[in-house]
Amino acid sequence: MRVFVALLLLSTFLSSCARQADHKYTLYVFGTLVELTLYGVSKETGDQAVALLTQGFQQRHKDWHAWESGKLGDLNTAIANGVPHKIDKDMVALLDQAREFERMSRGLFNPAIGKLVAQWGFHSSDKPGGPPPDKSRIAELVKARPSMEDLTVKRGLAIPRNKAVQLDFGGFAKGVALDWAAQLLQRHGIKNAVLNAGGDLNTIGRHGSRAWRAGIRHPSHWGVIATVDLQPGEVIYTSGNYFRFKQHEGKRYSHIIDPRTGWPVDHIVSASVIHKNGALADAAATALSVAGPKAWVETARNMGLDQVLLVDKNGGLYMTPKMQQRLTLSEPKSKTIAIKDPFALGSLKNAIKAHGAAY
Ligand code: AMP
Ligand code: MG
Repeated sequence: MRVFVALLLLSTFLSSCARQADHKYTLYVFGTLVELTLYGVSKETGDQAVALLTQGFQQRHKDWHAWESGKLGDLNTAIANGVPHKIDKDMVALLDQAREFERMSRGLFNPAIGKLVAQWGFHSSDKPGGPPPDKSRIAELVKARPSMEDLTVKRGLAIPRNKAVQLDFGGFAKGVALDWAAQLLQRHGIKNAVLNAGGDLNTIGRHGSRAWRAGIRHPSHWGVIATVDLQPGEVIYTSGNYFRFKQHEGKRYSHIIDPRTGWPVDHIVSASVIHKNGALADAAATALSVAGPKAWVETARNMGLDQVLLVDKNGGLYMTPKMQQRLTLSEPKSKTIAIKDPFALGSLKNAIKAHGAAY
């Protein structure tokens, strides 16, 4: 009897240890590796949830692909032909989000500029090369002012009115997918997890007795520029031109395009955003990369962000005070410019002066 009790205790102990272990999974979606770490669940529960999640990711990857055939491809063909097109409710929701992010960012985030992204060679899985596209073609596309507003949705029908629009959800699809995935895991009883898609990550709960800790990559080497402990449910997204770019005659052209000029952004090396909504954080990181050192404060305010970090090409750091409080910088002596709270600023002019002086 005593042996039985001892065995029972031992097996309870072992199964609770097993439950507390991390279960890691690696998936390849959206052109990047997604690493999932689940904490405090059995392997069976984890495996089941991750199988569903893998299916859902693959479906979204196909449906939202910017240049291969699929639901988005069909919609883009209809837009190019100027004909109305039936869409499902997931696509309606996605278009609503895309339109809202374009509005919030005052057009710096613009998922209707797929034609420009394609002109720069980024609608390909290979690394683009060659010279920049023809200037007059770029100017023509900018002049046509493609916008999400050019697409009206009525009773499940997308009605286009500008043939220059080509949808490209590359700037926020990962965020939408990770938000969906985090909800799915929670519905399966997973209370602690981190979903990391190449440095863009969503969290659920905590990592045992401590918070999930994220490292923000240094844009110019493989180290970490800062770490931050994330509260349950927080996400962190980073956009940068160090990862995906086109190179020609020694010059790099970022995959992030300024919709106002049609040219790749050149000033910012990376922009990171902490928020609770992955889709918004993803779109915002892209928008802030376009805004650059002169306009990021205004864009942060327009998009309702109070935790932002930017790194410029000289290694200068720009951040909101809330971000500054939370980050542990790897190189504490880096040139740091903390901007007053964007929401407390009287005018943008002051902000520019403040960071100009500190720099
Ligand atoms: P991210 O890495 O999240 O900044 O997304 C970059 C991707 O978003 C690019 O590869 C393009 O597909 C797309 N993109 C580029 N410029 C913009 C822009 N200004 N607004 C929205 N999406 C963009
Ligand atoms: Mg983004």
